[in-house]
Amino acid sequence: MSSSATARADAQRRGPRLAPLTCRLCGAPSAPSAVAVCERCLGPLEPAYDPHRRLPTRAEIEARPETMWRYLEWLPFLDAPVVSLDVGFTPLVDSPALARALGVHRALVKNDAASHPTFSFKDRVVASALNAALGLGLDTVGCASTGNLANAVAAQAARAGLAAWIFIPEDLEIGKIVGTAVYGPRLVRVKGTYDDVNRLCAQVADRFGFGLVNLNLRSYYGEGSKTMAFEIGEQLGWRTPDAIIAPMAGGSLVTKLDKGFRELRTAGLLDGPAPRVYGAQATGCAPIVNLVESGGEQIVPVQPRTIARSLAIGNPADGRFAAKAIRESGGAAAAVTDEELVAGIRLLAETTGVFGETAAGVTVASALKLARAGALRPSDELVLCVTGNGLKTVEAVLPALPESPVVAPKLREVAALVERSR
Ligand SMILES: *Cc1c(COP(=O)(O)O)cnc(C)c1O
Ligand SMILES: [Zn+2]
Repeated sequence: MSSSATARADAQRRGPRLAPLTCRLCGAPSAPSAVAVCERCLGPLEPAYDPHRRLPTRAEIEARPETMWRYLEWLPFLDAPVVSLDVGFTPLVDSPALARALGVHRALVKNDAASHPTFSFKDRVVASALNAALGLGLDTVGCASTGNLANAVAAQAARAGLAAWIFIPEDLEIGKIVGTAVYGPRLVRVKGTYDDVNRLCAQVADRFGFGLVNLNLRSYYGEGSKTMAFEIGEQLGWRTPDAIIAPMAGGSLVTKLDKGFRELRTAGLLDGPAPRVYGAQATGCAPIVNLVESGGEQIVPVQPRTIARSLAIGNPADGRFAAKAIRESGGAAAAVTDEELVAGIRLLAETTGVFGETAAGVTVASALKLARAGALRPSDELVLCVTGNGLKTVEAVLPALPESPVVAPKLREVAALVERSR
């Protein structure tokens, strides 16, 4: 057998048994499957956890490997995962300079720009979804992506020996395209917006039976995001921050951060009240911010126009749940212009030494806006979720950076520069 055939055969070994599903709206139960919407009411299906399962203590969790899987009891698997075992446990970075710039007591950056293997928080959701795919006996996975998800599916499917079909808008940033194609998936560039890609993929899933991680595997996919909240709580010494801010595309991450903090508090593992949850978008694509601010019930889709391509979802699947989580937590939402988000990328880099992508710029700039509006308080301990790496979106920030001087290899030319900088 060739090495790729061996890898593929390997992947067909059984994955973990999966938790059953239940409808978030009508409560109808269903067996584990690659279906993410309720047959009865079309509501989203969510994993159901046995309320009597044995939960680990803080000490037991601390003794486990430093990956997202140390919180397995809150992930939708009844036994151990078989692939992507090394994802998660990114740094939580204290940034006094960013706290000063924002006017809050303390600012910490949850740095998923350093996520393994593909430098965005999408590694977490894909790790969860691929184990679900294996548990369901699927041999082909895929996604509709704004970029980072494509990177994560391509890389993790490659090493799991799963075939991958990946669909993206044709004109994504070059770093996102190369950072997908290099892993050798079937990469398809679609003429249209992400929302067009998403509609196409729903048909692809039906026709070919692929496991599309953010469509028919979405119930298992989304739970991976909770691990970001679990890690933050543990890294703070098993307590909650006052407030947390994260960027929003489909609205899943913000919803699951809120859920994650609540679950560990309910288990008695986290001290402190549930944090206020804040959501950030670009003004050129802010359907969830609009919903939070209007107080309505239903997302009004928009046509995206922003350089924050990773967040450019005009009709977000979990938008109404994100808005609900934000409102009920006592948080708020904010949107910033492309110019403001570029300034946000630079502020994060210059204060914290972290180079985040456009979504991180949206998050930092939105935090600044919320702090100036008084929504974030001077006494707040704030966690900012940096969800992706700036090296994937260099075209966003390049035009804003000062030009570097070019000199001959002569001390006298450097001396002139030093003199002028004084
Ligand atoms: C996908 C993505 C998000 C938002 O994810 P949702 O869960 O769809 O809201 C945030 N930041 C980055 C960098 C992303 O790629
Ligand atoms: Zn239902």
